[in-house]
Amino acid sequence: MTEIKPRADIVAMDKYHSPQVDVAVRLNTNESPLPVPPEWIADVRSAVDDVAWNRYPDRSARSLRQAIADRHGVSAENIFAANGSNEVLQTLLLTYAGAGRTVATFEPTYQLHAHLARISGATVVSGQRDSDFCLQESEILRVLETAQPHVVFLCSPNNPTGRLEPRRNIELVIANAPGLIIIDEAYAEFSDWSALELVTEHSNVVVTRTFSKTWSLAALRLGYAIAPTRIVEELHTVVMPYHLDALKQIAGERALSYVEQMQSRVAGIVHERERIAIGLEKLGIDTWPSGANFILFRPAVTGAVGQGSGSESVWQKLLNAGVLVRDCSTWAGLDGCLRVTVGTPAENDLFLKALRVAVGKGE
Ligand SMILES: *Cc1c(COP(=O)(O)O)cnc(C)c1O
Repeated sequence: MTEIKPRADIVAMDKYHSPQVDVAVRLNTNESPLPVPPEWIADVRSAVDDVAWNRYPDRSARSLRQAIADRHGVSAENIFAANGSNEVLQTLLLTYAGAGRTVATFEPTYQLHAHLARISGATVVSGQRDSDFCLQESEILRVLETAQPHVVFLCSPNNPTGRLEPRRNIELVIANAPGLIIIDEAYAEFSDWSALELVTEHSNVVVTRTFSKTWSLAALRLGYAIAPTRIVEELHTVVMPYHLDALKQIAGERALSYVEQMQSRVAGIVHERERIAIGLEKLGIDTWPSGANFILFRPAVTGAVGQGSGSESVWQKLLNAGVLVRDCSTWAGLDGCLRVTVGTPAENDLFLKALRVAVGKGE
C-alpha cells in the first residue's frame, strides 16, 4: 500500500493553532472572561425540549437571521450565518477565491485569513503595515494595482495589533479594489466605530461579526456576515445544507435579547483594557492603542521574549507564574511581541504583577 499524501500545498502549510495549556489565568485566545447571563442558559435549557429533533433544522435559519438583521437595521436577506465567523470567512473564500484567484491581506493581521485563502486554492498576496502597524495609502494602492485581488481582507480592530482601521483607508480600498472586500469585525463592539454603514446593496463590501468575543459565546460557534443580498444568495449555494443545527439557531436568537448585558460586559472589559494599558506604560513597555479586548505589547528586555527565544523568556516567566498570554514574537513583523487578552480585574492584576517581575521591575 502506498501511503496517501495530502495536497502538496497543504503539506507545505503552517499548522494553525493556539496552544491550550492548562493554567490558572488564560489570557491567550481573546475569549470573554465573563459568563453569559444565567437567564440565557435557562432559555437554552427550555429550548432543548421544543426542538423537533427528528427533523432537519430550518435550512435558511430564517428566524435567527431576522433577529440579527433587526439588531443591525438591515433585512434578513443581508445576513449569512454560520458556525463561527471562521466558517463565514471560509464560505466567502470558497465562493469568491479558490484556484486561479488572488486574495490580498495586509500583514500583520489575523493569520486565518491567508490560511483559509490558501486552503481554498487561491494565491495570497501580502501587503505590509508600517512599523506602528498602520496601513499607508501608498501600500494599499500598490497592492490593489499590482495584484488586482479577487478578495481583499481588512480586519478592524485588527488582530493581533488591536488597531482600528481608519475610515479613509477602508474607503480607499472600496474605491480601488476590483473584487470583494471583507472587513472582519470580530471585535467591533469593543471600539467606537464600525464599517457597517459601508455595506450597501450595490457595493462589494462584506462585514463579518462573531458571537465568540463580545457575546461571551465562544463555545456556541456562531458568526455571521452582513452583505449585499446577491452575495448572501451565492454563499447559500456553497455552504453545507442544514449547516446550522436547530439548537444553535434558537440559542443565537435568544442571545440577542440580552444586548444590554452584553454592552455592560463590553464596557467593563474596555475599562480593564485601559487599566492594563496604563500598567504597561508604567513599566515602560511599548504598546499600541487597542480597540479590541486584547493588547499587543513589546517588553523591552534584550533577547528572550517569546517561547522559542530562551528558557527564561518573558512568555515563559509569565507562564511559570500561572499566566498564559499569546506569543506573537515569531510572527512576521511582530518581533518581541506578546498579546494579552483582557481578563477579569483579578486576572489582570495577576498578569500585571507577574509581568513586573518578568521584566525585572518587581520583587
Ligand atoms: C476570534 C476571531 C475570529 C473567530 O471567530 P469565530 O466566530 O470564533 O470563528 C474571526 N476573526 C478574528 C479577527 C478573530 O480574532
